[in-house]
Amino acid sequence: MSDIVLSGNYIDRHSLLRVNPEALEEARADPATRFVAIWQSQCLVMETRIALLTHANIVAYKQYLPDSTLLGKLDDRNVFALALDTEDEPDFGADSQFVSLRKISSLLDAADAGLAAFAKAMVAWQYNHQHCGVCGSQNLMSEAGFVMACKDPVCGHRSFPRLDPAVIVLVHNKDRALLGRQSDWPERRFSTIAGFVEPGESLEDAIRREVEEETNIKVGDATYCASQPWPFPAALMIGFHAQGQSEDIRLNDSELIEARWVSREEIISGDIFLPTRFSIAYHLVSTWFDQYDGPSLEALNLQQPPFHSPGSTDSSK
Ligand SMILES: [Zn+2]
Repeated sequence: MSDIVLSGNYIDRHSLLRVNPEALEEARADPATRFVAIWQSQCLVMETRIALLTHANIVAYKQYLPDSTLLGKLDDRNVFALALDTEDEPDFGADSQFVSLRKISSLLDAADAGLAAFAKAMVAWQYNHQHCGVCGSQNLMSEAGFVMACKDPVCGHRSFPRLDPAVIVLVHNKDRALLGRQSDWPERRFSTIAGFVEPGESLEDAIRREVEEETNIKVGDATYCASQPWPFPAALMIGFHAQGQSEDIRLNDSELIEARWVSREEIISGDIFLPTRFSIAYHLVSTWFDQYDGPSLEALNLQQPPFHSPGSTDSSK
């Protein structure tokens, strides 16, 4: 099974601490506590590890401490996300720098990538919920960063971390897979079909609609395969395999510039480029491909030019 980056239950989220203000303050002040710094949606990295800063490291940024977000317990130490909103890039020494998660995620080990994705997603959500969506008053951070609560006691509206569910699906018909290409992707680069779930839809409904909108192909039963957090800014990619029930491809919307039934032979020949190994799209392709006799997709060691999106749903860095 290939790895799916940005996911993994590597940290004990320690969620009871969120609702215990005294213990939370003690945890923030504890010398053993470490901080993951986020600035302009980027994560502080030392070489290829997420920098875990000490109290001494963050002494110049103490004012951000009360609004740090509890990520959980890692190796018996509490870890908080520290959101820095300075104009200039904060300086934590020459051996560290702020890097976009999109650039670094495939270089990080799985635990670090998951931690960075979690921290980035929380900080981005808080930044986008500084005001109450009901009355427009200022929101105040509560429950260690997991609630943004309206300052107006009459309103009292509470917002919770937002996730945007998106389906991503490998449609197959025997030994062929339905793959598509967006206009801004490199020539010959193909991936699985993806799209956001809309209100009033089940995941299966969204699969049927997205595949038909994008390719005119009708799909039958869908089988859940795996999922991937995709915090650009808040998607959760929910991956399926589905049986194609029709053959004729027609591009019904402008999402794809090209869609094809791609045979296993075409994949083996290297004529098309697949998504990056760490993406859920690759995982969906490989779990279908590897059902058949012959070398696994991983063993083919196909060329993979740089590519970032696991689907068609990301819109920010
Ligand atoms: Zn309000």
